[in-house]
Amino acid sequence: MRMLIGENWVDKDEKIDVRNPYNNELIDTVPSADKSDVEAAYQAAEEGYRVNRHLPVHQRISILYRTAEILKNRSEEFARTIATEGSKTIKEARKEASRCIDTITISAEEARRVVGETVPFSSREGSENRVGYYCRFPIGIILAITPFNDPLNLVAHKVGPAIAGGNSVVLKPATVTPLSALKLGEAMIEAGLPWKVLNIVTGYGSKIGDALVMDPRPRMISFTGGTQAGEEIVKKAGLKKIGMELGSNSPVIVMDDADLEQAVELCVSGAFWAVGQNCIGVQRIYIHENIYDWFERAFVERTKKMKIGYQLDEATDMGPMITESEAERVERWVKEALEEGAELLCGGKRKGTLFEPTVFKNMPDQAKLNCEEVFGPVVNLYKISSLDEAISLANSVKYGLHGAIFTRSLSHAFKAIKELDVGGVMVNDSTDYRIDMMPFGGVKWSGLGREGIKFALLEMTEPKVVCFNL
Ligand code: NAP
Repeated sequence: MRMLIGENWVDKDEKIDVRNPYNNELIDTVPSADKSDVEAAYQAAEEGYRVNRHLPVHQRISILYRTAEILKNRSEEFARTIATEGSKTIKEARKEASRCIDTITISAEEARRVVGETVPFSSREGSENRVGYYCRFPIGIILAITPFNDPLNLVAHKVGPAIAGGNSVVLKPATVTPLSALKLGEAMIEAGLPWKVLNIVTGYGSKIGDALVMDPRPRMISFTGGTQAGEEIVKKAGLKKIGMELGSNSPVIVMDDADLEQAVELCVSGAFWAVGQNCIGVQRIYIHENIYDWFERAFVERTKKMKIGYQLDEATDMGPMITESEAERVERWVKEALEEGAELLCGGKRKGTLFEPTVFKNMPDQAKLNCEEVFGPVVNLYKISSLDEAISLANSVKYGLHGAIFTRSLSHAFKAIKELDVGGVMVNDSTDYRIDMMPFGGVKWSGLGREGIKFALLEMTEPKVVCFNL
């Protein structure tokens, strides 16, 4: 496929191969952008901003609804693209495609709710004769940088609200999974989005990242990806707004009064969804000592039933990791944890990009698998004797995206809600629960700001105050 810059689908001699992570088969190529392409994209986006900011809101709404309609009509094609270039199974990819329809539809709905309010100027002595209000205006060009693990819907989470709010966009999708983003771009152009409002540059972050990030023209960087890259970008960005959706190693607490079968089922799914390459994937499960043995047995039994293999087979529960080097990294972390004294309950082996669903107990505090984000199919079980202990351990890491608790006790639930240092607490669900309209984002090293269309729109617009001196 080609990249989208200005009014053209642009090709280049230098290409990037896009390969199926299961069998390394070449699916397609995309151009490898350089600094001149970044420059062209920003020049186009400057014009695109002038166009979109003046587009009546009803036209932006129509474009977004038409895009959602196109996505609906081609949802199987989008799902197959997600599953072929990435590592989701076809069942997981269908869910992502359907959530993307939601994201774009909600963006259309929220476009009409970008509102302000009156300001009571007469509240200050001397301002009795003043009346006024504020309303929200687009901020300009938004640089969107996205990761591989939800190659379609996380792009929509940036492009949908950015366009709804009247901005223009320069998008850089993950190098390993650019096709879903380019297809979304095609759908938007087909839906009537004026050229130049959306520009998609395909290329390596290591090659064009600085040119994208350090340019003064974008007024906001909306980044989703790893904490390391996020921090690097923040240091280089200069004076612009920053939205950071970063990683985590999410904790789940299972109390002895919980529905245990539900907890097992949801935690297995939450740990191994998208091969654990999931920012809200379950990585640490704190289980009350009274039910620990039962939970461990049931959890391991259920995990062993997961069918791993080719992601496009309908029967596959867990596909390949995104690259062999990522699978090797997880293998190294597993080996290190074993050397540090962790006890393997099942899994732990790699074959190419396939990594077995892996369960540990007695994971030492300092092990990477405890304190870092594994971003792979590995989960740790811990025995706890009280809720206080579980909350303290859950909070003991640098991340804080989602946390969860399984319990039938309201007081346990409310204590966890109050004391877990995270951006979202799921009660009787795993951390891997999200719908696209809810505020989404993390505390501590998991991020800055919130997505979820209404909340992204607040970040992507800014208030302008108006005052009449009568
Ligand atoms: P990543 O390596 O950080 O890359 C994310 C994106 O940033 C890619 O497009 C990458 O380009 C680009 N990039 C990397 N370094 C850059 C730099 N210095 N300047 C500009 N761009 C740069 O992350 P990933 O492996 O794709 O995704 C996994 C991570 O994303 C995990 O940590 C996960 O938790 C996080 N994530 C967070 C959320 C959330 O909402 N909180 C959601 C999904 C994923 P290249 O592809 O060319 O390297």
